[in-house]
Amino acid sequence: MPSAHLERVSFWFDSLDAVPEPEPPAELPAQADVAIVGGGFTGLWTAYYLKCLEPSLDIAVLEAVTLGFGASGRNGGWCMGMASKVDHLLEDPVQRDGGVRLMRAMMKTVDEVARICQAENIDCHYAKGGTLSVASAPFAAPRLQREVTEYAAYGLGDYCEWLPADESRRRINCSRNYGAIHTPHCAAIHPARLVRGLGEAVRRRGVRVFESTPVVDVMGKRVTTARGTLSADAVIRATEGYTDSLASHKRRLLPLYSLMIATEPLPQGVWDEIGLKARETFDDQRRVTIYGQRTADGRLAFGGREGYRFGSKRKPFVTPEEAGFESLEASLRQMFPVLDGRAVTHRWGGLMGVPTSWRPSVSFDRDAGFGAAGGYVGEGVAASNLAGRIMADLVLGRDTDITHLPWVEDAGERWPFEPLRWLGATAMTFLGNQADRVELTQGRPSKFWGSLFAGLTRYLL
Ligand SMILES: Cc1cc2nc3c(=O)[nH]c(=O)nc-3n(C[C@H](O)[C@H](O)[C@H](O)COP(=O)(O)OP(=O)(O)OC[C@H]3O[C@@H](n4cnc5c(N)ncnc54)[C@H](O)[C@@H]3O)c2cc1C
Repeated sequence: MPSAHLERVSFWFDSLDAVPEPEPPAELPAQADVAIVGGGFTGLWTAYYLKCLEPSLDIAVLEAVTLGFGASGRNGGWCMGMASKVDHLLEDPVQRDGGVRLMRAMMKTVDEVARICQAENIDCHYAKGGTLSVASAPFAAPRLQREVTEYAAYGLGDYCEWLPADESRRRINCSRNYGAIHTPHCAAIHPARLVRGLGEAVRRRGVRVFESTPVVDVMGKRVTTARGTLSADAVIRATEGYTDSLASHKRRLLPLYSLMIATEPLPQGVWDEIGLKARETFDDQRRVTIYGQRTADGRLAFGGREGYRFGSKRKPFVTPEEAGFESLEASLRQMFPVLDGRAVTHRWGGLMGVPTSWRPSVSFDRDAGFGAAGGYVGEGVAASNLAGRIMADLVLGRDTDITHLPWVEDAGERWPFEPLRWLGATAMTFLGNQADRVELTQGRPSKFWGSLFAGLTRYLL
């Protein structure tokens, strides 16, 4: 287990009022009504809604390090009304209705997070300025415009709009900007303030939190730790990119790294140049995703997906010396030349969980007393709230609108053994990077690398 110095987790941890110290291990109860493994957004939202619906439940959250130590305390802070692979559902006439209902539920979830923050007095610097998805080459603009038209054709015309280049540049003055999709359904947040505030909210409601308590395995209703076993009527796995740490759950979710950097606070003059007045989050539609937000204290926090390590290796911290940070910083500076001479003060990274279906799932087997939620593929800030609400309903046997959404009982298969996982994931990152490089440097579609990437993704998804 990592020692303290948890400011290394992320800029977000470093900028909390006090850097968290993991609580020492406490004696575990033999029994609880519900045991939740993992103290990130998924585990805590599940605990929160269970307690709201059934205050008498005895709920224990078991967390290996400290609340928010995983992706929830490290992410880009996009609380977005969208989730991984909803587009696949929308494109398929058979699954379209479920896709539309899911989109509507996700759009509402952005406001639900705001509602709870207000009710529980969680100041997570929430700013619902929407997202700008920029066309970084002229050829990308018609494709993005088509996407807007398609959403409208699915009855989701209120999801997004097309901004022509001049309007888009007024919102975000980045180096290659040929127009953008704007959706109002996204808020920029400080994720560590949200996850730690949520932790306090569940404790206030009587949830017992056990930090410094790595779980070794979960089998049905039994949770095994190095310090003993806990039995519960319902056990929920909420371990996302770290799921391989549970002996019986290996290869369920592929751990993929995502990296982030943050600049020093930027003066108003720099922000006058860049824009993002409403703290809109932004990306530019490249295959190996980049994402950014203007933080409440005036920094640019910028991230990019990185890749997979052989054998699903998981490191507690990503060190600032890792090679991927150089190209991430180069992308940031290329997008915003006005940052010349401005320092990057923080570098960190974390793990996302990827299921074979590339879309989240929430499942609960009443007979086995076991449930699992996650697989957000790096898009889980808001999605974990919806997943937590669904899980609470499933555990309590409630038949609601959200228990009929397409994520329910949709867990993918296990990933194959090595070296297949490494080969597939590495090839995808390589081909995606090659195609992006050609398109960004030459301003034309990359037919060769792009079609290899598309072929491989079709094969793998
Ligand atoms: C760098 C980065 C940027 C991202 N940016 C965004 C973004 O901008 N927007 C967005 O929507 N999503 C983003 N994501 C994804 C998002 O952060 C996650 O989907 C979300 O936080 C998942 O929450 P979770 O609770 O399921 O998992 P986690 O937050 O990873 O929590 C899992 C917890 O389980 C604990 N744990 C694991 N194994 C055990 C065990 N055996 N015993 C006990 N405890 C255990 C871990 O310590 C951890 O605290 C990003 C992810 C990363 C890594």
